[in-house]
Amino acid sequence: MSIRESFCPLCGQPSAGDLCGRCRVGKTRWMEASPRVECITCPTCGSRKTGAIWQDSPVSREELTRELAIRAVRLIPEGRDAEFQVTSRERSPNRTIAKVQVKANVFGVPVADEAEVEVVWRGETCDRCSRISGGYFEGVVQVRAAGRALSPREQEVATRIACEVEERLKEGGARLSFISRMTGEEGLDIVVGQSRMGERIAQEITAALGGRYTVHPKLTGEKDGKRLYRITYSIRLPRLQKGDVVEVEGDYLEVRETGKRQLKVFHLGTGSMTILPPSSTYRLVGNVRDSVPALIAFIEGETAGILDPETFATREVRMPGWVKTATGSQVRVLPDKQTDRIVVVG
Ligand SMILES: [Zn+2]
Ligand SMILES: [Zn+2]
Repeated sequence: MSIRESFCPLCGQPSAGDLCGRCRVGKTRWMEASPRVECITCPTCGSRKTGAIWQDSPVSREELTRELAIRAVRLIPEGRDAEFQVTSRERSPNRTIAKVQVKANVFGVPVADEAEVEVVWRGETCDRCSRISGGYFEGVVQVRAAGRALSPREQEVATRIACEVEERLKEGGARLSFISRMTGEEGLDIVVGQSRMGERIAQEITAALGGRYTVHPKLTGEKDGKRLYRITYSIRLPRLQKGDVVEVEGDYLEVRETGKRQLKVFHLGTGSMTILPPSSTYRLVGNVRDSVPALIAFIEGETAGILDPETFATREVRMPGWVKTATGSQVRVLPDKQTDRIVVVG
């Protein structure tokens, strides 16, 4: 036996220092818990307020209870390997009682204890919901088409893009990037809570549907010496859309690119790309998206007999060289109602 080994004055067991671990634990309050914690959440969207900051809370009330209850428990610095088990019951709509069972290791001795924490839920309308309900907005994206109404597809694409931008910004933590409303009486108006977001939506819609947008800020007031603007992003979609088939002097052309100034078109008769100057007159036949498959009944030189998908009568058309065909195969056609012709588009 070493001369330096000593005995615990309380229990007489050998110990390294003064009191043995077991007796030290017995004399130490190694765990403390706040009996009551408050949690502020938004009754509309479930966001949670910590200090003065609101955050989206993706967790359920049960998970939040667990998190709050564990956080209400404090261990002394010597407490190691803490394990928590939380059970909870709802006392009322705004009171949850959580029982926290704690296991840890203190001064080398395994210990266990439990505490009860009351979670008080308080509702408060969050920054975002109060802006939305107050009709707050910083920008409007106006989607219009030049010389015509928006097509249902353009409405749908623009709406989808706006929602995707909102979702992406929200995921990135931009809480106040919300769409406050969308109206579709004359074109589409997307009213946004943050002007930065309006710009993003305008960029993405014109990238997808062509056309361009102009920016029109309007001074609405001043706050803390800073000028406040409401910004209108005015989108003008091109008169012709990608995939539109037009007839120019008896030729059928498919719009492939709608640039700012000129249209790149595909000549459906010859298979070559050309440019359609903005001043040209044309007649809109339809869009390749609306084309339908049709069966080739026979081929004789450059002429093909195609089964009209509407009447099932065989119609003879001159088959463009760029279309790969064989008897029994299918091509896509677009009917030209005005001239009663069938246009092969691919
Ligand atoms: Zn002892
Ligand atoms: Zn809210």
